[in-house]
Amino acid sequence: MAGRILDWLKREGGEPAPAEAEAFARLAAARDAAEAANEAKTRFLASVAHEIRSPLNAIYGYAQLIERGQGKDQLAAARVIRRSAEHLAHLVEGLLDIAQVEGGAMTLSREAIRFPEFLDQLVAMLDLQAQAKGLALVLERPERLPEFVHADPKRLRQVLINLMTNAIKFTDAGAVTLKVEYRNELATFTVIDTGIGIAAEDAARIFAPFERVGGPAAERPGVGLGLAITQALVHIMGGEIRLDSVPGEGSRFTVRLMLSQPLTPPSEPAPEAGAVTGYIGRERWVLLIDDDAAQLAVVRGLLEPLGFQVRTASDGETALALAAQFQPDLVLCDVALGADNGWQIAAHLRRRHGAALRIVMLSGEAPLAEGPGADHDSFIMKPFAFGTLLDCVADQLGVEWVRAAGEPRAAAPGAPAMPALPVVIAPVAAAHCAEIERLVRIGHVRAIEAEIDAIAALAPEAAPLAERMRAALDSFDLKALAGLAKALQADAA
Ligand code: ADP
Repeated sequence: MAGRILDWLKREGGEPAPAEAEAFARLAAARDAAEAANEAKTRFLASVAHEIRSPLNAIYGYAQLIERGQGKDQLAAARVIRRSAEHLAHLVEGLLDIAQVEGGAMTLSREAIRFPEFLDQLVAMLDLQAQAKGLALVLERPERLPEFVHADPKRLRQVLINLMTNAIKFTDAGAVTLKVEYRNELATFTVIDTGIGIAAEDAARIFAPFERVGGPAAERPGVGLGLAITQALVHIMGGEIRLDSVPGEGSRFTVRLMLSQPLTPPSEPAPEAGAVTGYIGRERWVLLIDDDAAQLAVVRGLLEPLGFQVRTASDGETALALAAQFQPDLVLCDVALGADNGWQIAAHLRRRHGAALRIVMLSGEAPLAEGPGADHDSFIMKPFAFGTLLDCVADQLGVEWVRAAGEPRAAAPGAPAMPALPVVIAPVAAAHCAEIERLVRIGHVRAIEAEIDAIAALAPEAAPLAERMRAALDSFDLKALAGLAKALQADAA
C-alpha cells in the first residue's frame, strides 16, 4: 500500500519530500494494519454467528415441535436441546476468555504453588474422564521436582486441562500422558496421546479460533476455541507451544514456560481452623442413599462421630421406608443408583416429607442446571473433599460446628509428598489395599486397576495415593505397589 501511494505521488509529478514520504508510509502501514484487523474481525464475527446459529436453530426447532405436541421422542429432543445449550455455554465462556486475552485485560497472578501437588490434583481431576473412555492417564515426572514454583495456577491449569481434555477426546484407545520436566527453571509439559493425530496441513490452522479438523473428528463435541485460548495464554505467560503429530498414531503438544522457584520457601498459610468435632443443638438425623457400600461407609464414618444419627439405604424402596420410619432431617442421595434413579427418589421424598426435609444430591456427573431444583436443595460432585460435604451439611441444617483447637499443619522436612488419608477413609482404603496385595500375588492386573480406581473414588484426598499406585502398576513395579498397599494398611491400623 505504501509503495502504491509513493508510485501515485511520483506519477502526479513530484518527488515527495523525505519527511512527507515517511509520513505517507507510516499512515499507509497503519491503514493496512487496520484493514487487516477489520477483515479478521469480520471473519471472526461470521464464525461466531455461524457457531451460535446451529445450536440455536436446534433449540428453536425442537422447542416448537414439542410445543405443538409433534415431538415424537421428547426425551431425545430434550437431549438435543441440552447438548445445544451446553455448546452455547462453552462458546460464551471461550469468547469471554478470548476477549480478555485480546483486549489485554487478562492479568496473570504470580503465586508460589506447590508444584507436585498441583500436578497430582490436575491428573486426579481428569482421571474419571479418561477412565470413562477406558484410557490410561499417566503422569510422568522426575522423582525430584521443586516443591514450589511461581505461576498463575488458574491459567496454567486451564492450559493443561485444555490440552489433556483434547487428548482424551481425540483418543479412543491407549493412553494419555502428561510428562513434566524441569531444568534451570524451564518447565516443559508434554501432553502425549495415542489418538487420531493431526495432519501436517492442519497443524497451524487448529490454533486459530473456530478452526477444527473436518471428517469424523468434527463429530466430537467442541467449538474450536480451546487451542486458540491455550496458545494465547501460553504466549502471555511468556512461553511457547508446539505440536508434533503423526496421523493415526497420536499427537504431542509441548508447552515450555519459565517457572521460577521462590528464593525462600513461602510461609505456610495460616493454620486452618481446627477439625470439626461436633455441632451445637439437638441431634440431627441423616439418611444416606447410595448403592456403593464403600461410599456409605465413608460418609457414615465422617458423620457419626460428629454426633449425627445415620441410617443407610442402598436402594429406593429401602430409602423411602426408612425415611417414613425415622423422619430424617437431611438426605444425602446418590444420583446413579443401579436400577433406581436418585432424582425420582428425591421427588418421592419431597412429596411425602415436604420442604422441611433437606435433600442433597451426590453425583459423579454435573447436573443439567446449576443450583437447587424443585426436589433437591443442593448438589455435590463426587469425589468431594470432606470440607465441602461438611460445609453443605452445615448450610442445609443450619448447624454450627464445634471445632478442636486449630493445630498447625506439620510439614516435616523431607516428608513424602503423599498426604495422610483422612481417618474415615483410611480403613476403607486399607480394605482395598489388602485386596491389592492379594491380587499382586496372583498378578491380576485388571482387578488391581479396579481396586486402585475404587481408592481414587473415595475422596480427592486419596488421589495422590491412587496415582502412585497407578504409576507403580503402569511400570509393572508390583513390588513397589505391594509395598504401598502394605504401608497404608499399617498406617490405618
Ligand atoms: P475443540 O476441541 O473445541 O474442537 P480446539 O481448539 O481445542 O477445539 O481444537 C481444535 C481442533 O484441533 C479440534 O477440533 C481437533 O480437530 C484438533 N485437535 C486438538 N487436539 C487434538 C488431539 N490431541 N488429537 C487430535 N486432534 C486434536
